[in-house]
Order: sequence, then structure tokens, then C-alpha cells
Amino acid sequence: MHKMSNGNQNQIMKLSKSSQIMILVFAALLLLFSVLFFFRSKPQYCSKVDIALGTTVKVVISSQKDPGLILEAVLREFHRIDQKFSVTNEKSMIWRINHSPDPVQVDEETAFVIERSLALARATEGAFDPALGNLISLWGFDRISDTQFQPAIPSNAQIQEALEKSGYEHIRLEKDVVILDKGVKLDLGGVVKGYAIDRGISIAKEMDPDATGYINAGRDIGIIGPKFGGDYWSIAVQDPRGESGEYIDLVYLKKGTIVTSGDYERFFIVDGVRYHHIINPKTGYPVRDTISTTVISPDAMDADALSTAAFVLGSEFSAMLLPVLGGQGLFVDSKQAIITSEGWSFFKEKQ
Ligand code: ADP
Ligand code: MG
Repeated sequence: MHKMSNGNQNQIMKLSKSSQIMILVFAALLLLFSVLFFFRSKPQYCSKVDIALGTTVKVVISSQKDPGLILEAVLREFHRIDQKFSVTNEKSMIWRINHSPDPVQVDEETAFVIERSLALARATEGAFDPALGNLISLWGFDRISDTQFQPAIPSNAQIQEALEKSGYEHIRLEKDVVILDKGVKLDLGGVVKGYAIDRGISIAKEMDPDATGYINAGRDIGIIGPKFGGDYWSIAVQDPRGESGEYIDLVYLKKGTIVTSGDYERFFIVDGVRYHHIINPKTGYPVRDTISTTVISPDAMDADALSTAAFVLGSEFSAMLLPVLGGQGLFVDSKQAIITSEGWSFFKEKQ
């Protein structure tokens, strides 16, 4: 009996030792999985900054594939679009169209961008107008970032002359042929940044459909995918008269785009008056009644054109028009009053 109970005790000892080892192994595995899960649930973000389209472009990406390659490809696309749609580069497509005495046959991409711009011009009754090249170069806003640039206010006669050779009704697109009335010039500065953001998102998604992150081109932002795969990105709307970093509103996006136009981006001041780069197509002068517009829309190209149009149309009218055109907006008028369209508040909550 005594012996038997001794043997039993040994067995119990043995069992408890092996179960101790099992518990240890289990604990180690649990720790390993927790560490792996932690790193899986918090993907690492890589970013790269470059200058294109006259602004700082920052691409932030997380991908299980090669994030470095995706960053490069997105930024390369920005440079390609910059060169192709520049008004001042003599090798650009827009230069060719603007300086040809005859109609110009264009590639599919150029036809798409011009056609979409014309549609946006019609939808905003010309508040966004892709044919203001003469006015914009008369004011010098196409070369304001040049160190040699000397700001000067054009005479009223010069503005009237440029106005006669401006306006989207002077552009026709017949299949792939662009026909401009004599002397009229395109300037796609109001949509091209948005178009580049849309293209950048497509390229990132083609390279890795599960990639997440965003593109920020001078505060025009397009979401590649939700933060860490499921969270919202918090986006601040800059205070147009505040210090850098001060903001007037905060929104949360998992997808889509948010674009801002401000009178503080490209401007010069003469005798205390600010002359900035968004022109009222009816008067030929920079818009006076708005200082900043921000538009949220599924596509950046639309958001870009609509933020420019809203700038021209003013807060009250834009707050009504934007939702009809598929966007929501926040507008700051010259008295610094903030007006939002009705659906804007949707983006102020994490839904
Ligand atoms: P930003 O380039 O600062 O983001 P916008 O998207 O509003 O600002 O675009 C402004 C640019 O669009 C100008 O630099 C000019 O090239 C062009 N532009 C100016 N006024 C208009 C307008 N009423 N419609 C279309 N394009 C415009
Ligand atoms: Mg714009």
C-alpha cells in the first residue's frame, strides 16, 4: 500500500512537471501570437515627400508588397502629369494646344481631362472655367513661384481684352480633336492636382489592392485606404487667416478626397490689397468675397474643380449647389464667417 501510494505520488509529480512545461509552451506561444498580432494590427507606414505641380506632395502608404516601389510610382505619376498639363512648359500637351494655329489631335487621357473639365464648367455655369489661360498669365499666377516674378496689376483695358479670349464656350472637343477659338488658352490648374491624386490612388491600388494610406498634395488629400486598414484618418481644415497648424474644423474620412482652395496659397499684395490666383471668370479679377473653400467628394478631380467653383460662387450659393453635384463643403467668406453644406456634419463624426 505504502509502495503503491509512493508510485502514485511520483506519477503525480511527473504529470505536474509535464503540465508545467505545457503551460510554459502555451504561454510562450500566446506571447508570440500577441506580438505577431500587435504588429499585424498596426501596419507600418512609409512616406515620401516631393515637389510637383507647384506644391509639396506627400505620399503615405502601408503595404505588404513593396511600399517603396508604390511611393516611387505614385510620385512619378505626379511628375508625368505635371509635365504633360503644365501651361508654362514648352514641351507640354497644353502648350501644344495653346500655341497651335490649328485644331490639335490629342491622346485619350488629354481628351478625358478636357472633357471632364468642360462638364464641370457646365455644371458650375462657368464658375470653374478651364479656358482662363489669358487672364491667369496676364495676372502672372502661372509663374508666381518664379524668383524673377514681378507682381503688377493689369490695366482694366488689358483685363477686358483677355476676357474676350477667355471662357469654356470657346473650347470644342470633337472626338479626339481639340478646337480652340482664336487666341483662347487653356489653364487646367484648377483640376490637374485633383486628377493627379485620383491617378496616384489608382496606381497604388493597382500595385496592391490592400494598400492603405493617403496622398497629400498641398493640403488636397485623397485617401488610398483606411488607417491601419479600418480606422478613420483625422483631417484638419486649415484656418485661412491663422498660423500654420491652426485649424477651424476637423473631419474623419476612410475614403474619398478633401480639397481646399485658399487665397493664401498664391497671391501678392499691392497697396494693402491681396491679389490671389482664383479668378472670377465674369470680371477677370481675383475673387473678393471668399477666402477659403473646402470640398469633400469621392473623386479629387471633382473636388478640385468644385472647390475652385465654390470660391467664385460664394458661400451661400455653394452650400446649396455642392450636394447637388455630389460634394459637401465648408466655406469661409471675407468676413471669416464659416458656412457648411448640410451633409458636412456627417464627416465630423466617426460613423
Ligand atoms: P490651388 O491650386 O491652390 O489648390 P485651385 O485648385 O483653386 O487652387 O486652383 C487654382 C488654379 O486654377 C489657379 O492657379 C489657376 O491656374 C486656375 N484658376 C483660377 N481661377 C479659376 C477659375 N475660376 N476656374 C478654373 N480655374 C481657375
Ligand atoms: Mg481647385
